[in-house]
Amino acid sequence: MDKPTILVTGGAGFIGANFVCAWLSRHNGTLVNLDKLTYAGNPANLHALQADPRHVFVRGDICDPELIAQLLARFRPRYIVNFAAESHVDRSIHSPDAFVKTNVDGVFLLLEAALHHWKQLTQPEVEDFRFLQVSTDEVYGSLSAEESAFSETTPYRPNSPYAASKAAGDHLVRAYHRTYGLPVLTTNCSNNYGPYQHPEKLIPLMLLNALAGKALPVYGDGANIRDWLFVEDHCRAIERVLDSGTPGQTYNVGGHNEKTNLEVIRTLCAILDQERPRLGSGSYREQIRFVADRPGHDRRYAIDASKIGRELGWKPVESFESGIRKTVHWYLSQHRDWVEQVLSGDYKEWFAINYRGR
Ligand code: NAD
Repeated sequence: MDKPTILVTGGAGFIGANFVCAWLSRHNGTLVNLDKLTYAGNPANLHALQADPRHVFVRGDICDPELIAQLLARFRPRYIVNFAAESHVDRSIHSPDAFVKTNVDGVFLLLEAALHHWKQLTQPEVEDFRFLQVSTDEVYGSLSAEESAFSETTPYRPNSPYAASKAAGDHLVRAYHRTYGLPVLTTNCSNNYGPYQHPEKLIPLMLLNALAGKALPVYGDGANIRDWLFVEDHCRAIERVLDSGTPGQTYNVGGHNEKTNLEVIRTLCAILDQERPRLGSGSYREQIRFVADRPGHDRRYAIDASKIGRELGWKPVESFESGIRKTVHWYLSQHRDWVEQVLSGDYKEWFAINYRGR
């Protein structure tokens, strides 16, 4: 049986952890998971894999070329999938330096190491090797209500430091293909939601604030539009692109679920009203508060995901309605402990106990 080894970076974060678990449920080879464990990386996201010998967790930085070179020489992965990033737009506005470090320098150092590794491979390894950069629709900038959705040929026009740093990383990935022939792939995906998302992001933030009786802060008029995709559908898309994508190509990934922020928040409130009625009376909607807008807030993102559908046969399984309900259930019922750990920072201690010596 085919047992490809894969190196995943950032696999203790939200999408990375979902990907690692999904991958190991479908493949038999070794998965090396390199993660720096910033505030966003949480080993508790990987608790289901603690006893799985195929999962090799390495705490480390993609900006450490010696470590990357050692891992590539030792494990000889067929695939490298780069999720590692600073990912929160608001943080990028206040402290952009970490974004440039990881999202630009880190991608460059990974590409350098990957190129060196690829050149050492023998046939057929050299043919099979792929480097996949996980990117975002935010690199395309903002759309007006009349403009059509972002396609793979839409020029990059990033507006936030986060988007600009991801765009710079993506350009390097493209250049390593055009200049050196490295077999790279890039996916540009819309907003993800689902289990294990850090509570700083819109959906978990609103859910947890609602339950805690706190305000639900909505930027500006709440009419900013995002496309939403359930995280498991994104993970399936990445797998499909790795398996069948054409090196050098970019694939847009989206859910055809354009929603205003206010619509998303009202949907969450409606589900919570049914599932966990507020103490006393009234709807969670009463906790909504409009706050000053984010500087440079992009008005609308929309993704045309027809290429990945047409060429690779991918389409999302989950509708927004079913995915959002699953997500609310996950946060409400099964994972209160996870939420408490993340909010308290206890998970760092949990890591020290459970992953000592690995
Ligand atoms: P996340 O912030 O939840 O996780 C990022 C992970 O990367 C964390 O585990 C963190 O510890 C790790 N990391 C950060 N810097 C590192 C470094 N220098 N070396 C090694 N590890 C490091 O992010 P996410 O939401 O899971 O996003 C993952 C990727 O997907 C990112 O590249 C992001 O740009 C992209 N993306 C995210 C979304 C979304 O909606 N969340 C949508 C499209 C694309």
